[in-house]
Amino acid sequence: MANSGNSGSLKNIIEKFIRQFKDSRQAKIFIFLGTIGVFFLTLLLAFPNKSYNNRPIRPVKGVQLEKSFSNRAGFQKREDGLKSIANIKEDVEEILKVRIPVYALNVNGKDLAVFKTKDEASNLLDDIVKPFTQDEEAKIEEIGFKENTKIVKKLVGAEKFAENLEYGEILDYITKGTKETKIHKMQKGENYWVIAQKYKINPDDLIKANPGVKPETLQIGQEISLVVPKPLITVVTKEIMEYNEEIAYETKYEETEVLYKGEVRVKMAGEKGEREVKAKINKENGIEIERSILEEKIIAEPTTKVVLKGTKNPPPKIGTGKLAKPTSRGILTSPFGWRWGRRHSGIDIGIPTGTDVKAADGGKVIFSGTKGGYGKCIIIDHGGNVNTLYAHNSELLVKKGTKVFKGQIIAKSGNTGVSTGPHLHFEVRKNNTPVNPAKYVKY
Ligand SMILES: [Zn+2]
Repeated sequence: MANSGNSGSLKNIIEKFIRQFKDSRQAKIFIFLGTIGVFFLTLLLAFPNKSYNNRPIRPVKGVQLEKSFSNRAGFQKREDGLKSIANIKEDVEEILKVRIPVYALNVNGKDLAVFKTKDEASNLLDDIVKPFTQDEEAKIEEIGFKENTKIVKKLVGAEKFAENLEYGEILDYITKGTKETKIHKMQKGENYWVIAQKYKINPDDLIKANPGVKPETLQIGQEISLVVPKPLITVVTKEIMEYNEEIAYETKYEETEVLYKGEVRVKMAGEKGEREVKAKINKENGIEIERSILEEKIIAEPTTKVVLKGTKNPPPKIGTGKLAKPTSRGILTSPFGWRWGRRHSGIDIGIPTGTDVKAADGGKVIFSGTKGGYGKCIIIDHGGNVNTLYAHNSELLVKKGTKVFKGQIIAKSGNTGVSTGPHLHFEVRKNNTPVNPAKYVKY
């Protein structure tokens, strides 16, 4: 402080005075000195905020002294016209206190920061709300703070102002609620999910930690904050947004005698519709709190999905003694018998992967699983020592032990096991010996 030299010497005089006064032998001398002291201070009272010892008492550079300074520094006179030592001491300390006007950001009655100028304080408020007003697609209708927030002009001790943080630090502290910083530089192949997992933080918190950053537009080398904010102030925005959204389709079931009970078939695929929406969205620190639809216009109605549901009683789940074709389409690509020096134990039916594979007759599933070169395979026992085998499937739909009826879909065809392309390998076995399926089914 500029006036510290003055105050130091004045303080010394008074302290010396008090020390010496305690020595009763020299009391008379000290009463005399005291009188001089009172004279001095009376002078000071006459020229309170101007000078002392012909030297000006200067305010702190760049700040104004409080207007009421002179009144505060005024001495209370005792009735006998003399001032007590304690009063003198208090008065002097009061003079030494320099109070300066500041603009405090007051949130719910608590000063979070003080600034030299009102502009600086209002700039801070602008900078706090800035990240939440960046969405170009939204029209901000209203912006404010959840907390009772105001800029208050007040007087504080100079020493308090000296403790104040830099502008950037204040902004960081108020928006994050902490002075901690932790940054991650985006690497190739990283996104919020990867970062969240790496640092064991919630992806939602990562979004909160980086307001104004669009996760889908992150660039390699971009720095993101890992500090989950607990802001000391809540920015409330009310936005109007216009956007298009999908309308889900409904699913309707129609009964049909064409299908067996338990069987379903899609008659008509559903199609999503689309609507234009105008909505009001309330957000707190960028997080949606409430959404109300103001207007909506249907652009395309959705198309209902229609599913057929079978009502026909299934045939008995026993062998009928007559085999049917295991697929409703497909061509014979390899017959039963000798082929390239090896005996082919069944017939190959060329069909695209995913084609329905049906039980050739009613019976009981005695194998369902992967079987060496057969790949995903099913074997059905029809009774009378007749079995059928279905190989190279992509998907098995019945388990071992299940009783099936003739024509029931038991698998989806495929290309698993030792197979050179999508097809069904179909075998008929009598007394565990493969026989020519062409004797039973025609392709
Ligand atoms: Zn084969």
